[in-house]
Amino acid sequence: MGNQIHIPLTALTGGPLQPSRLAAGGVGATELPPASGRTFYLETFGCQMNVHDSEKVAGVLLRRGYRQVDSPAEADLVLYNTCSIREKAAQKVFSRLGQLRHGEGHQLVGVLGCVAQQEGERIFERAPWVNLVCGSASYRRLPELLAELESGRRRVVGLDTDTDETFETEFTRRDNPFRAYVTIIEGCDKSCAYCVVPFTRGPERSRTSDSILAEVRSLVELGYTEVQLLGQNVNSYRDPSPRRMSFAELLDAVAQIPGLRRVRFTTSHPRDFHPEIVQAIDANPVLCDHVHLPVQSGSTRILQRMNREYTREQYLERVEIIRRARRPISLTTDLIVGFPGETEADFEQTLTLLEEVGYDGAFSFKFSPRPNTAALSFPDDVPEEEKGRRLAVLQEKQRQIQLRRNQALVGSTVEVLVEGRSRPGQWTGRTSSNRVVNFTSPRVPNLGEYLQVCILAAGPHSLVGEQVI
Ligand code: SF4
Repeated sequence: MGNQIHIPLTALTGGPLQPSRLAAGGVGATELPPASGRTFYLETFGCQMNVHDSEKVAGVLLRRGYRQVDSPAEADLVLYNTCSIREKAAQKVFSRLGQLRHGEGHQLVGVLGCVAQQEGERIFERAPWVNLVCGSASYRRLPELLAELESGRRRVVGLDTDTDETFETEFTRRDNPFRAYVTIIEGCDKSCAYCVVPFTRGPERSRTSDSILAEVRSLVELGYTEVQLLGQNVNSYRDPSPRRMSFAELLDAVAQIPGLRRVRFTTSHPRDFHPEIVQAIDANPVLCDHVHLPVQSGSTRILQRMNREYTREQYLERVEIIRRARRPISLTTDLIVGFPGETEADFEQTLTLLEEVGYDGAFSFKFSPRPNTAALSFPDDVPEEEKGRRLAVLQEKQRQIQLRRNQALVGSTVEVLVEGRSRPGQWTGRTSSNRVVNFTSPRVPNLGEYLQVCILAAGPHSLVGEQVI
């Protein structure tokens, strides 16, 4: 794992740069190659995996001497890193490409990520001014693909998913100066009926524990105190090196790295969520007390149609493991309403599960039929209007649960990592349980500082407090 490039902080806060932070980051420490005069624009859609992939793609381009610009109009190379989890997300890239139709003659255009893998060379038919189509499983070939573009080729593709390699780069341009993403596993071997990921990101490939630990150490040297381990299914991690570390062992090893204050991980799959993970959290205060455990539905019948490989009861057993931890661990989830065949009774099961578990947060969506998924052939028999009604009912119920759980924290003192200003005179940051806290302070806190904050009030999505002096 190579050098890390550190981006100055002004972009995030608009406030003065915190000298201490920059020194630690050491922009000067990593010499960029001479500028080639070429510029690139990179826009990212979708999940944290895509955000981190873009950080690495930008690192590859900076390593080639490109300079990043803020608008497509200024760029020699325009890149969109895309998401195809729902139809709406996929359509976004085609509307962007439409805007480039009459772009600068010399401009090169590339589509990366999940829509690239899903649509492949059909993109050239829909948008003939596109020059590069590259899926995430082919990113390790980016230097070679860019060389082909620079040599004058006008249609270049990277669509191979049959690989056991992961995307590791010499340079990674990191956007967030507080929380550093570290991919530990790519792809997915499961086949949930509604999900495009196995097709768009390919089979599971885990990085060696040594390369992950080395990357985290180099991030700590750069001044990072929080890292987030990423994967479609982090708890399916299988160390390919002779050390054969399990996910829980990897968590423990990362937590031992001096200088780290917080370690997060996302996303977990309930089938592979074992007690050792909670034991690791209990044994290491550095491991954050937050688990994201997508359930998708509360009905075993629908879970089986989704091919989620667990029942409602088995999912609740995992929740019980988490609830038995010595530390209170916040639990969040993902939910889909209106999956083909979902009856009112199935939906009621999802609502009762929300009550039974008491989630601290939930991302919820209407079912959207996707190409290259088993559910595409299922009759999409829940009317759109009814999907909308169920989503609204679910979100209102979850909002009340979150409000109740956040109100229980009023009067308590929590540790907050300061991430920025929320409004004049008020700062914002997150707790270890991943709650957003907006707070006042008698002084200007340092970004990236850890402060004790007394909670004075609570809303469904955030807490309000004042710094404890
Ligand atoms: S576990 Fe299921 S939902 Fe998650 S990425 Fe894999 S196929 Fe998609």
